[in-house]
Amino acid sequence: MPNCQETLKELELFLDSELPNARIEEIMVHLTGCTDCQGAFEFHAELRAIVRAKAKRDHLPDGFTDRLLACFEPQTDPD
Ligand SMILES: [Zn+2]
Repeated sequence: MPNCQETLKELELFLDSELPNARIEEIMVHLTGCTDCQGAFEFHAELRAIVRAKAKRDHLPDGFTDRLLACFEPQTDPD
C-alpha cells in the first residue's frame, strides 16, 4: 500500500498511464481514502487539461510544461 509521499511521487506516471495496472489500483485505493492526495491529483489532472488546451492554440516555449509541473512536485529532502 503506497503512502502519501509515494502516491504523489507517481502522480505524473499515473496521469501518463505509465504505471502497471496493479500499481494504478493501489493508488486508486489510496485516493479513495485520502482527500489530500485526491485534491492533488485532481489539481494536476485539471492543470494538464488546461495546458493541453492552451498548447493547441498557442505555441508554448520548449520545456514550459515541464517547468510548470515541476513547481508542484513534492519537495525532496536534500540528503
Ligand atoms: Zn495520501
